[in-house]
Amino acid sequence: MGGTALLAVEPGQALIGRCTGCRKAYRAELPGSAIVCAGYATPVARNYGYPTWHDCRAGIPCPLDKDALLPACGFTGCDGHDRTPITYKPLKVTYKPGAACGPGNCGGAVTATCVCSCNGKNHGSAWLVSGGLRPLR
Ligand SMILES: [Zn+2]
Ligand SMILES: [Zn+2]
Ligand SMILES: [Zn+2]
Repeated sequence: MGGTALLAVEPGQALIGRCTGCRKAYRAELPGSAIVCAGYATPVARNYGYPTWHDCRAGIPCPLDKDALLPACGFTGCDGHDRTPITYKPLKVTYKPGAACGPGNCGGAVTATCVCSCNGKNHGSAWLVSGGLRPLR
């Protein structure tokens, strides 16, 4: 143990997560041997040590809606919520030779669809979660 293993990430072996509350994005990288069945990306991310809960609303009253009548969540007198689930989707990659890869289309992407020359390598890299890739026990 100790140290951080650098594992090659094959196209499709990265997951893009979104907090269902604040929409914050996450990138989770899986070893090539990881098996991700459709619809089970979130438990797989959890098994590899990536966060599946975000505390963006925990104990924090939601901001008022645009008419300033109710908190955004609709509950009068909101004084915060439990942790909010993060859901992951497998990254879908379409290799597009010649496409310029940069922060605008890939680095800061928040969707799970990548059409780029990087083959998904840089997609959502701004949201890469450190401390993932803990092996299953
Ligand atoms: Zn959140
Ligand atoms: Zn609320
Ligand atoms: Zn790219």
